[in-house]
Amino acid sequence: MSLLLPAFQKLLDEQHWKRASQNLVRKRRPREEGTLPLVKINGRTLINFCGNDYLGLSAHETVINAAKAALDKFGFGSGASQLVSGYTILHRQLEEALAEKTGRDRALVFSTGYMANQAIINGLMGRGDLVAGDRFNHASLIDAAIISRARFKRYPHCDTAVLTTLLNQHNKGKKMIVTDAVFSMDGDIAPLEELSAIGKQHEALLVVDDAHGFGVLGKSGCGALEEQGLGQADVPLMMATFGKALGGFGAFVAGDADLIEALTQTSRTLIYTTAPPPAIAAAALAALELLGTEPWRRTKLRELITQFIRGATERGIPLSGSDTAIQPIIQGSAESALNASQYLLEQGFWIAPIRPPTVPAGTSRLRVTLTAGHEPAQVDALLESLAIALEKCRN
Ligand SMILES: *Cc1c(COP(=O)(O)O)cnc(C)c1O
Repeated sequence: MSLLLPAFQKLLDEQHWKRASQNLVRKRRPREEGTLPLVKINGRTLINFCGNDYLGLSAHETVINAAKAALDKFGFGSGASQLVSGYTILHRQLEEALAEKTGRDRALVFSTGYMANQAIINGLMGRGDLVAGDRFNHASLIDAAIISRARFKRYPHCDTAVLTTLLNQHNKGKKMIVTDAVFSMDGDIAPLEELSAIGKQHEALLVVDDAHGFGVLGKSGCGALEEQGLGQADVPLMMATFGKALGGFGAFVAGDADLIEALTQTSRTLIYTTAPPPAIAAAALAALELLGTEPWRRTKLRELITQFIRGATERGIPLSGSDTAIQPIIQGSAESALNASQYLLEQGFWIAPIRPPTVPAGTSRLRVTLTAGHEPAQVDALLESLAIALEKCRN
């Protein structure tokens, strides 16, 4: 018998019933072993098509060895906040390498991207200020804007006309524009050049979250900003994470030296939290170097994306126009996404269904992610099963 207080029990029961009736219950599936692309779940080997390890670096020997060497030298935990004694020479080297790679004055490392976004918005914005964000921005940017107590306005996806109106309407306090570079559930890219021009025109600080572009896009893997030729003068603050293309864990913010210094002094998600373990910094540093020494990973990923788009088009699989490693196949109802995902699981492919509230109601989807760790034959096999899954699981 449950010992929960009745008020809580009633609420939880109601919420659970509602989720269950709408096919919105989420399940975690423990991986038993394996690295990209093959993982074992429930004793079965599956091809993972829903991870963000875009370059296949999480299992790279150089990355693993760098982490091991750091473990031997520094132990596992960092032991304290960065501002107390948790900061090591590895964190410092990583920040210097990131500043150089991105062509920014300085970089600051955070334990997670969620926390980095908190630091940026909550640290720089407050009452009386305006934060304008794309409607499809990552939840961490939305939460940070809400917590900051600034006026928070969301503009329709990539709608720069509405954004301009919002900025025109706000004549006191500071202004900030925040956007994903590559939108995490859709794979499309924000109109960064235009946003930069609007930011300059309206004296609004442009902040770009390049979690899904960093490592993957740009000639040297420096992300969407490199691809579009946008430097620090165009985008004063950028952030990206180590958890995606770098195959690691953690994040960084890079930009103007004064902004970075201010964040170092004031970020609650930097000061009041344990520094990332030194081995995490060492792994990120090694992965960052691999962006330069193994450009073939980006080339291979690009080829697999082209193959996927061409193959899907030939088979009549409806794509959304994304040109990145994130390829959503929007089905509509949560039930059909759930069923299609289940069918694919039975066929040996792991693609988690993406449902509300992660995406708007009526746009539940399979979000296929491609990585340099996949092989062309695996992509072809996926396309075959995907076509059948969609046929079987129509709305
Ligand atoms: C994953 C992600 C984050 C959060 O990064 P974590 O390091 O996983 O906390 C932030 N922004 C975007 C766009 C992301 O995709």
